[in-house]
Amino acid sequence: MAAVSKECEVCRRFYTLTAGLEESSLKSPCGHETAKVSSWPFTNCPFCDCKQFYRRKGFNQIVGCSIILLGALLVPVTYGLSLPLLVLVDWLLARRVPDIMVCYRCGTEFNDFGEIPQTVAAFDHHTGELYEAG
Ligand SMILES: [Zn+2]
Ligand SMILES: [Zn+2]
Repeated sequence: MAAVSKECEVCRRFYTLTAGLEESSLKSPCGHETAKVSSWPFTNCPFCDCKQFYRRKGFNQIVGCSIILLGALLVPVTYGLSLPLLVLVDWLLARRVPDIMVCYRCGTEFNDFGEIPQTVAAFDHHTGELYEAG
């Protein structure tokens, strides 16, 4: 299901909304933020009107790190075999998880809206810095 996750600019709460694409507006739980979701794919962020997005794995980064950490902890027991094995597990898990699209400016995450346009690339630090500075 299509879902939007972001931090509210007003009350700083992180929230997730699931919404059908036919819905014309999305509201944060506190009601301070609204967004207009037009048809997919977006050209502008429905929250901040930013035109640049990047893609990343929807895979939970914390889970990924825990798997690698577990591999490292098991190294003495498994004579070092656990690490490459769990790196493989991590890679396989990550491969199964679809990419999500993230807005450069407001950090809103767009999950499962459909195929991400080819023009949306992985996170670029130079672009990211531009938005952080602004
Ligand atoms: Zn709020
Ligand atoms: Zn945005």
